[in-house]
Amino acid sequence: MTPKMAMAIAADISAAIAAPFTLQTQLPVSGGGHFRHPASRDTSTSVCGDINTAHVITDHNGVQYFVKLNNADRATMFEAEAAGLRELAQTNIIRVPQPVCHGITAGSAYLAMEYIDLSGNNSAQNQVRLGHQLAQLHRITAPRYGWRTNNTLGTTPQINTGHGHWPHFWREQRLGFQLSLAAHNGYSGALQRKGEKLLADMAVFFTNYEPPPSLLHGDLWSGNYGIDPGGNPVIFDPAVYYGDRETDLAMTGLFGGFSENFYLAYQEAYPLDAGFKTRKILYNLYHILNHLNLFGGSYLRQAEHMMDNLLGEIH
Ligand code: ADP
Repeated sequence: MTPKMAMAIAADISAAIAAPFTLQTQLPVSGGGHFRHPASRDTSTSVCGDINTAHVITDHNGVQYFVKLNNADRATMFEAEAAGLRELAQTNIIRVPQPVCHGITAGSAYLAMEYIDLSGNNSAQNQVRLGHQLAQLHRITAPRYGWRTNNTLGTTPQINTGHGHWPHFWREQRLGFQLSLAAHNGYSGALQRKGEKLLADMAVFFTNYEPPPSLLHGDLWSGNYGIDPGGNPVIFDPAVYYGDRETDLAMTGLFGGFSENFYLAYQEAYPLDAGFKTRKILYNLYHILNHLNLFGGSYLRQAEHMMDNLLGEIH
């Protein structure tokens, strides 16, 4: 972030909070989350050349803001992220950084939000809190699946056009979308054959199961939550929409980082249907296909393996 950018963003913050904010320091956040999960090793086919960079800017009173930067053409991505943070924050259920302002300055897109110290203790008790709070969040529902705006998962577009039938939504706007993207990225052959078959037959996983459209974080892996010094769980970097709450739960299990206490607390507050055991593979397939599209490499084998498991359940 150039000094000119930092000054311009500080001025925007000042206008947004209707109070003075005079830039004192700007520090890059090293080793930021970026959209690269721990399991992502092979970046040879990566299209993540435009990952976010993160900075903390501070005024002379020690007030801090967390600022994400990207190329100017990513402005709508940040606009949707800000809207997602607001959607979650307004429920007052789980702590979320309040978005402050976003836009384009000095040729870069930016999103400024409340800075939150995430150095709290990830104790058993705080995992229980997170489980209870996520269950409460999932009790917030909308009339339809989807959301009022599209957003992104990493840098991949996520289509949220509203729909009244969950399996249709999942087939068309989640798995089908990623599968088409994979074809576009050159992943043809077995992946597409298996994927097509799965899409055609996946209704079987929804027999007697009609989830309410729950408010979702949408990208809930361990890199997207933390604990504040007061022991409050904090979630950030969402890909918000309304859908089956099992999708959030499935993703918490994909890369680990959530303890047994979290799952027990969630189950106690909002028990899961027995079919979750199989559907979670169908739901995590979306994220693995997204990783394939972003990073390539071993995700191809993993996606095909998940498809084999699911197809094996059908026949
Ligand atoms: P990216 O979109 O590049 O993945 P994230 O939003 O995940 O970036 O943020 C990167 C890292 O910065 C997170 O893993 C977290 O540790 C930290 N972080 C994110 N948001 C805040 C915030 N509002 N305040 C303080 N630290 C934050």
